Amino acid sequence: MTKVTRAQFDDVMVPNYVPGKVIPVKGEGSRIWDQEGREFVDFAGGIAVSALGHAHPALVEALTTQGQKLWHLSNVMTNEPAIELAQKITDNTFADKVFFCNSGAEANEAALKLGRRHAFLKSGPEKHEIISTLNSFHGRTLFTVSAGGQAKYKEGFEPTPGGISHVPYNDLAAMKAQISDKTAAVIVEPIQGEGGITPATQEYLEGLRALCDEHDALLIFDEVQTGVGRTGHLYAYQAYGVVPDVLTTAKALGGGFPIGAMICTDKVAGSLAFGTHGSTYGGNPLACSVSLAVLDVVLADGVLDQVTAKAEKIKSALAGINEKHGVFKDIRGMGLLIGAELNDDLAGKAKDFVNAALEEGLMMLVAGPNVIRFTPSLIIPDADIEEGLARFEKAVEKIVNQ
Ligand SMILES: *Cc1c(COP(=O)(O)O)cnc(C)c1O
Repeated sequence: MTKVTRAQFDDVMVPNYVPGKVIPVKGEGSRIWDQEGREFVDFAGGIAVSALGHAHPALVEALTTQGQKLWHLSNVMTNEPAIELAQKITDNTFADKVFFCNSGAEANEAALKLGRRHAFLKSGPEKHEIISTLNSFHGRTLFTVSAGGQAKYKEGFEPTPGGISHVPYNDLAAMKAQISDKTAAVIVEPIQGEGGITPATQEYLEGLRALCDEHDALLIFDEVQTGVGRTGHLYAYQAYGVVPDVLTTAKALGGGFPIGAMICTDKVAGSLAFGTHGSTYGGNPLACSVSLAVLDVVLADGVLDQVTAKAEKIKSALAGINEKHGVFKDIRGMGLLIGAELNDDLAGKAKDFVNAALEEGLMMLVAGPNVIRFTPSLIIPDADIEEGLARFEKAVEKIVNQ
């Protein structure tokens, strides 16, 4: 086989992505190597997906063992890993029931359909409105871009589904003004991820819970990015102590193997009765086996606690870099979901920092035009944190001195 090149990408791929110049071929822990053998520290983890780094032995073991047994059945037949995984999720969360799918968008699609269907069955078709927040991100299907609070992702795809409104995030008065007895569901990220790593305030989530109860609307937490240990808690709702009716999880759930889930209480699960919703691949035994291994590691003694310790290490180093170079106006987030917002004189330049970091051998992400995002593996070794931060500081120096 001849070696593929980055130039070939542009010849054969739909141009909706513009990937970086390097083509990684191998990963181990928090290090990645490209075709030329160049080594990178990984502070991105895909997009907050590879929560246990690359090629984690327990995940490789789960994948290869299941891979030799049974790959696929569809939901005409159930399978052992799916039932075991649902049991593990319900044992460790508020949820009583689980619906499996393959991505975050699909998990939110299921949550929003459940929200509508539940209200329809209980109160009739008038109660169908969905309220979301500005700047939110819920996926790229037509229903989920419509729920998302970023107009640019909808442009040219109209008409989008109706009955969806958007209010400013962390603004309880705005939600209070919008919510009514016609509201079927409120969907919100406990920490807005793509929108700039903005945590909800405690009062906001508590207030949303009370408003949803008052108006008999479902509260949906989109934890696609915040879930599976990212915040130092299995799910961010546990940090806030505010329990939703429905929660969506994907990204880190498979540690890099595609899987998503919509999880909910018994009270609402029945509204997705037989035949109302489905997925061919959802609950696939390969995906569920890997996900079981992910949860075993994340829930093992000490793992969640050290997420917070590693996050403190990164945040204090970023504060040090900031003291020297004066680049950030805010360093925020929870656990290993960290955002560093650029000063006004560097507005719009987050991508330049990420590109400069790649030149120094560090993979990282933006969260909007002004925020640099850090989402390393939850078990990244301290030595890799230090090396990554050293490379990041070099990238910062390059930008401020140019
Ligand atoms: C990434 C993300 C999604 C979409 O997940 P996909 O797997 O890309 O469909 C939805 N919600 C949030 C909060 C996300 O971060």
